[in-house]
Amino acid sequence: MKTTATLPRTSVSTLYLSAPEAAELIRRKGLPQCIAGIADNIRQDFLRWPDFDKSARVANHSLDGVIELMPISDDISYSFKYVNGHPRNHRFGLPTVMAFGVLADVATGCPQLLSELTLTTALRTAAMSAVAARAVARPDSRVMALIGNGAQSEFQALGFQHLLGIEEVRLFDVDPAATRKLAGNLAGSGLRVVVCSSTAEAVEGADIVTTVTADKTNATILTPEMIEPGMHINGVGGDCPGKTELHADVLRGSAVFVEYAPQTRVEGDIQQMPSDFAVTELWEVLAGHKAGRADARQVTVFDSVGFALEDFSALRFMRDAALELGLGEHIALIPALDDPKNLFGALRQPVIQPSRPDLRLAA
Ligand code: NAD
Repeated sequence: MKTTATLPRTSVSTLYLSAPEAAELIRRKGLPQCIAGIADNIRQDFLRWPDFDKSARVANHSLDGVIELMPISDDISYSFKYVNGHPRNHRFGLPTVMAFGVLADVATGCPQLLSELTLTTALRTAAMSAVAARAVARPDSRVMALIGNGAQSEFQALGFQHLLGIEEVRLFDVDPAATRKLAGNLAGSGLRVVVCSSTAEAVEGADIVTTVTADKTNATILTPEMIEPGMHINGVGGDCPGKTELHADVLRGSAVFVEYAPQTRVEGDIQQMPSDFAVTELWEVLAGHKAGRADARQVTVFDSVGFALEDFSALRFMRDAALELGLGEHIALIPALDDPKNLFGALRQPVIQPSRPDLRLAA
């Protein structure tokens, strides 16, 4: 008798999570719960660091921005994110950062989830910042300066409120309208919001400083005289060659923690430093292999650039939450074939009329 069972035909249906459905998912689960859930996944995945096939992202640079592909996999799942960074996009009514991505089954290559990742990137970036700060910031941190008050900023403020216990945020942006928008969106959050007229004013007395500005230049948002003993700097906006936020002396005076050193040395604020500048990969601190903060007076920097593993963790969270809440739509991204060698046969399957005739290509 034949002992090997016939493999069941794998479903080729892909769950599609649009931006409006992701927004609905976040409303229904709660924003703090989503950031906390993604932070838990990130922590779990970072503790499995050696299990992942890792690489620095592939970046295509142009005059005004960058488009990046971020792949990663373990033995079970593969994911990639497509993401751009165009700080001058507001001229066209578009966000600086837009993204989508896929979670796929490694055994067959079938895409399981095709998801928006613009909202999800803001969640996962806040979650990653919080995971890093929990590991290396002073646990008694209550006041955070938030420099750069654009698309990511609410998520950072609320992530630090709920995961770190931040009670006061001190805001500054070169665009006062962005600060007004952020202050308005944080009204009723329970955070004490202080609007400041300069970076120096916002940073003074802060326990944590988050820089999340967008400018395609080697900026010096934070300079050494602004830094106080014991501060934690969450540097989010320096994430591309030629795009930095911290003065090199701030880095020289700090213990610097990174996601994946081969990528951060090219893209992070440490691109300004020699190739042997000492940094610690965060997973080693989380796993207990390396020390985090040495003492309450040490200045720590999380030189965040965004690593593919965080999107893998976020995609896992969004898939599980969408299935739990019955959100998303099953789409036929891959043709379903009776005979997998007869791809040509798919051309003879019944024609599906587009539900939006106005979207048909003109003849
Ligand atoms: P955004 O364009 O919506 O907001 C950026 C804000 O920074 C704007 O309001 C702008 O006026 C302000 N700004 C620019 N220069 C400034 C300066 N010198 N001082 C104070 N404010 C200044 O962009 P966003 O989506 O909020 O993203 C912010 C940054 O974070 C971008 O650089 C983006 O590439 C980066 N980012 C990083 C990660 C990561 O994982 N590290 C993830 C997402 C976004």
